[in-house]
Amino acid sequence: MLRVAIVGRPNVGKSTLFNRLAGRRLALVDDRPGVTRDWREAPARLGPARFRLIDTAGLEDAAGDALEARMTARTDALLEDVDLILFTLDGRAGVTPGDRHFARRLRRRRRPVLVLVNKAEGAAAADAPIDAFSLGLGEPIAVSAEHGEGMAELHDAMVAACPVLAGGEDAPAPPGDTLRLAVVGRPNVGKSTLINRMIGETRVLAGPEAGITRDSVAAPWRWRGRDVELVDTAGLRRAARVAGRLERRSADAARRAVAACQVAILTLDATAPLDRQDVAIARGALDEGRALIVAANKWDLVTAGDAVRRRLAERLGAALVQARGVGLVALSARSGAGIDRLMEAAFAARETWSRRLPTAALNRWLAAMTERHPPPLDAGRRVRIRYVTQVSARPPTFALFVNRPAGLPLPYRRYLVNGLREAFDLPGAPIRLLPRAGRNPYAGRPS
Ligand code: GDP
Repeated sequence: MLRVAIVGRPNVGKSTLFNRLAGRRLALVDDRPGVTRDWREAPARLGPARFRLIDTAGLEDAAGDALEARMTARTDALLEDVDLILFTLDGRAGVTPGDRHFARRLRRRRRPVLVLVNKAEGAAAADAPIDAFSLGLGEPIAVSAEHGEGMAELHDAMVAACPVLAGGEDAPAPPGDTLRLAVVGRPNVGKSTLINRMIGETRVLAGPEAGITRDSVAAPWRWRGRDVELVDTAGLRRAARVAGRLERRSADAARRAVAACQVAILTLDATAPLDRQDVAIARGALDEGRALIVAANKWDLVTAGDAVRRRLAERLGAALVQARGVGLVALSARSGAGIDRLMEAAFAARETWSRRLPTAALNRWLAAMTERHPPPLDAGRRVRIRYVTQVSARPPTFALFVNRPAGLPLPYRRYLVNGLREAFDLPGAPIRLLPRAGRNPYAGRPS
């Protein structure tokens, strides 16, 4: 289940907030005086959202007086394992140097942080949210943990930061829902650097001479409460170690990674033109039926950003007609800028790739498409597409029941694929059409 931690200076109201969300009774048991506390963790709810809540107040108590010491290594270690951080301030005290200290520490983490301005009931705290904005952690949310004010706003902000919370029920990701990513691309585009950034620790050493990496095939981590796994980072290592035949080796590595992934991230060096090898890797991923997104890396070196982005999008559109609308994310693996957008794009691409379309809507769409442009004659005979149904997802695959299945030429199939993509909003996903002989297989009797 998603884990949410409350952090902040002493006396800002962390425990009150914890009690409100996790239930007072439970907290009282833990709160007996004289009992040395560690952190507290309990199941909690806010409206329809269910999660596990952690109160870090106990860690402060143990850490002594020095402010720096309060954000101890233990707090740090604890925060490694949470999905969302509720950074709480005292609205009546305004933003203090202690708050700024916390904010600096939190800004360095790649975890979503929500700034809560607590004790915001009444006029005393009116200016605090404006102040808190200057912490650089996004729009503050005014709450009163004591009086239960601002809880709907808090709920909405939590769901915006961690969409799995919207599940309402206790909604852990279904097993097998781990997003399997492959990072592919030519040598030196920054794949290792990107992987390091995504995982947030140094497992793959980057550099022109890269060759020392962990032998892991999959590197699991969590992003906003969702499980992610990189496939075949070992392939990357092997590719990097062999100096000669680098191109072929990396193409092999890309193929292996692509075979095991759901979403392939084609990494490009945005300072170099899109080349044949980039396109070949992208096509390989699409032919394999994977969702594809494109990461334009080294964006920190790009000056005319708009022009570069436009040119890249044009070239990609021209080279990858079979997957119009592939997501393109500009980023800097070196600085980390854009990584969150990349992850969002990866989850969105998987969602599209997993979509299932209702048969009735598909057949209404088919009727309109064939009316607008009937299939061309095949050897002088009319070609009739009688029925369409989605036979599988991941990638979206559709059976077309046709009187003369061999009679559907490629341009017409493209027309249908592009039509599907538009009508049902499937940007960037490879779409497969399987023309089959026969009539509607589900109709029961010949129509
Ligand atoms: P790989 O062969 O694709 O794994 O590439 P590496 O990750 O080893 O990176 C190749 C080189 O590009 C290294 O010198 C990196 O430091 C550099 N690099 C990677 N990402 C970026 C970036 O976002 N910006 C800049 N300026 N350099 C980068």
